[in-house]
Amino acid sequence: MAVMEITEFPERVLKEVGAAVEEFDEGLEKLVADMFETMYAEEGVGLAAPQVGLSLRLFVMDCAGIKLVAANPEIVSVEGEQEGEEGCLSVGKIHAPLKRAERARLRAQDVKGEWFEREAEGLAARCFLHETDHCDGTLFIDHLSPLRRDMVKRRFQKMKRWR
Ligand SMILES: [Zn+2]
Repeated sequence: MAVMEITEFPERVLKEVGAAVEEFDEGLEKLVADMFETMYAEEGVGLAAPQVGLSLRLFVMDCAGIKLVAANPEIVSVEGEQEGEEGCLSVGKIHAPLKRAERARLRAQDVKGEWFEREAEGLAARCFLHETDHCDGTLFIDHLSPLRRDMVKRRFQKMKRWR
């Protein structure tokens, strides 16, 4: 297993709609293991393939008691609303308040290619939504108001200069 390098905003791959995962083989198993290792090393709760430079519809998560691999994820339904802060490893973990659905139902394939559905609420639902967005080339900052988005971008640019 190996820790991979995190792709950061504004790299192009983060804006691309990922390609479908079609091969459920040893290569995918190794990639998923590396993604988990990278996510834990970075103290994240979710990590999508574009965040390690791969334009693929794939994410891993371990958040609020839900640990899973999701290939070709889709959000099939959402309900309610939650307030809360959100951040992203690709945007230097800078947090901003972002309203999300309180509950979300995810449909995806596991590492063997088996389809499953899973429901989550609160933080785990937020994670489903955030990571599925990554697979579609959307970052959490894309959901913020232009003013708040600029604030996060400026803080991130500043942070990058200092490291
Ligand atoms: Zn993210």
